[in-house]
Amino acid sequence: MTTDQPPRLLGPAEIRALAAELDVRPTKTLGQNFVHDANTVRRIVAASGIGADDIVLEVGPGLGSLTLALLAEAGRVVAVEIDRKLAARLPQTIAEFAPDQARNFDVVTADALAVMPDDLPQTPTALVANLPYNVAVPVLLHLMAEFPTIRTALVMVQAEVADRLAASPGGRIYGVPSVKARFYGDVARAGSIGTQVFWPEPKIQSGLVRIDRRDAYGTDRDLRTRTFAAIDAAFAQRRKTMRAALASWAGTAAQAEEFLRTADIDPSIRGERLDVADFVRLAQARKDAGIDTGASR
Ligand code: SAM
Repeated sequence: MTTDQPPRLLGPAEIRALAAELDVRPTKTLGQNFVHDANTVRRIVAASGIGADDIVLEVGPGLGSLTLALLAEAGRVVAVEIDRKLAARLPQTIAEFAPDQARNFDVVTADALAVMPDDLPQTPTALVANLPYNVAVPVLLHLMAEFPTIRTALVMVQAEVADRLAASPGGRIYGVPSVKARFYGDVARAGSIGTQVFWPEPKIQSGLVRIDRRDAYGTDRDLRTRTFAAIDAAFAQRRKTMRAALASWAGTAAQAEEFLRTADIDPSIRGERLDVADFVRLAQARKDAGIDTGASR
């Protein structure tokens, strides 16, 4: 929650001291690149639009760089960290750097790929995270699916992944993450971040992506599962026409053509030309024909 004092944030010296104290050896497997730049975390928080009414879910708080900036603006922060050593040190870091906000902070040691609402002490209204890069898209889609109370998400991911998430139909980079993210709401790039603000420095640039949830297609899990199965099928063979690419999803190419025509989609185009509303109509056409589908996130 905002106070008159500017928040104390973690700079290079504080990150170095914490890492030395904990004997942290950042691993690529856990995507451990820690931000040591106050301007960067302030930018992330500003781009997220969170305020005092928000309960923010932060995935991968690490040493607490972003957490401290979030606590300065949010009502509460609930952090989910997979690394036990990092999770255990966080309450002390918050108590040292933001004693007035310590009561507004919880950390849960868990894998964000599997975390569910019942695992958290609070119901989050927003997601803000510098995501571990190798699992960024699955974590983002899992949380948007399982936490419908999250109304806005602002995540830092690799620049190329940010471009793919925010891509519009028609381009080469438009694909499965772009369409699935759009199922939940409006998706937009929200800035670029260089490599020098991290320790250790990654090789690639990062980007910010924002999702504003709209739930334009409702919150029916069955419709989402069916729609995502159609998206997976269309992009598994993205050079093929929809009629060909969807043959096994539909049963036969002729059946695929029938569903496509029912959904008012030209069977000769490729999946990269379709927006999420097209995939929702397609999934509905297949459902109306009485065909079951497997689950897909
Ligand atoms: N938020 C910190 C910052 O900005 O400096 C650290 C971000 S670092 C890119 C990613 C963090 O996610 C690390 O702290 C890592 O241990 C954690 N992490 C990796 N995989 C995770 C998972 N599956 N669930 C939860 N946390 C994870």
